Amino acid sequence: MRPDAITREECVALDRRDPLAEFRDAFVIPEGVIYLDGNSLGAMAKAAPARAARVVEHEWGSDLIRSWNNAGWFELPLELGDKLAPLIGADAGEVVVTDTTSVNLFKLLWAAADMRPGRRKIILEGSNFPTDNYVAQGVAAARGLEVVLVERDAIADAIDEDTLAISITHVHYKTGHINDMAALTARAHAAGALAIWDLCHSAGALPVDLNGCNVDLAVGCTYKYLNGGPGSPAFLFVAKRHLATARQPITGWWGHADPFALTPGYAPAPDIRHFLTGTQPIVSLSLVGVGADLMRAADMTRVRTKSIALTETFIALVEQRCAAHGFTLVSPRDANERGSQVSFAHPHGYAIMRALIDRGVIGDFRAPDIVRFGFTPLYVRFADVWDAVDVLVDVMESGAWRDARYAEREAVT
Ligand SMILES: *Cc1c(COP(=O)(O)O)cnc(C)c1O
Repeated sequence: MRPDAITREECVALDRRDPLAEFRDAFVIPEGVIYLDGNSLGAMAKAAPARAARVVEHEWGSDLIRSWNNAGWFELPLELGDKLAPLIGADAGEVVVTDTTSVNLFKLLWAAADMRPGRRKIILEGSNFPTDNYVAQGVAAARGLEVVLVERDAIADAIDEDTLAISITHVHYKTGHINDMAALTARAHAAGALAIWDLCHSAGALPVDLNGCNVDLAVGCTYKYLNGGPGSPAFLFVAKRHLATARQPITGWWGHADPFALTPGYAPAPDIRHFLTGTQPIVSLSLVGVGADLMRAADMTRVRTKSIALTETFIALVEQRCAAHGFTLVSPRDANERGSQVSFAHPHGYAIMRALIDRGVIGDFRAPDIVRFGFTPLYVRFADVWDAVDVLVDVMESGAWRDARYAEREAVT
């Protein structure tokens, strides 16, 4: 690391040369806010309110039920899946946008159990975002299977002939560590197991190549780096080679081969439509397209290059300017192993984050002691990184974080 701190002028110069700079103008970033939480809830695209208004006022208000056909509501989950496919290395017909990540993972784990009969183990990372592990526990309880929780370095060795699937999150939500999708998928396949990947913190943050890595099944959410809006439906991927055989358990009419035949017996749709269950939240679903269109217009290699530069700058500045204040880097120091976020551990992390948020620098806190900062290359500038660290320096040097009101926990951290 260079001994003198990076200057604000250098950051401004980087912004001037940034090939993605124009994308910031496509988002609403409130005055006085430095938004470093796009990894939890992406910022709103400027085009989103008009899209929502059209769905509500015109498609619903004027066209009423005719919009299922005329406005393409019925096909929307598949159409959006095709739109997201190139962002995650999938082909058309392999992705659908529906339900939540948790529900979709339930469907895929259940399908995986049927695809590997006789095998009992599902392997996940113990420190993974808990919902994935909870869902796996639910499937295991219903199916008489076993959930095996291991940490990163032990995943490969845990895979054996009794493993039906690994279910691994590509980028760790807390540390930002990237798990090796190609290597772990190959290892799972060598043992005859399936590879399921959760892309919640990688879709829209870095290039993902599901088919290049030969991945079997995948899920991910659209409200983080894909900017789909709060609670926007998630996506689900099934590799072409499995579409004819993979069967999900929540066999509702939207996944039926002929939903409007209204026959008494369930017959699975022969394609990705089978992974749908019931009527979708059309207003929310329609906004996924707005975020996806912006992401598709950006070159993912450029997104990754800028993401690395942003996180490198942030780490260097915090370590240069806050050296005396007790922050320990939790994210990988090697940029090739790091997603688009930086996490530091600090014993007073919760109060520090509350103080930062009060001063317009929005990141988040993850128990027990991690302050987490997400860097979304489409709308975060290098000058923002510098300004955010400047506020952090002030919060630490003034002791502002010691204010008693920052010690009280809110429901959502
Ligand atoms: C954000 C996230 C989820 C979200 O799941 P929901 O069902 O949308 O609440 C799931 N898994 C991981 C790894 C996540 O990071």
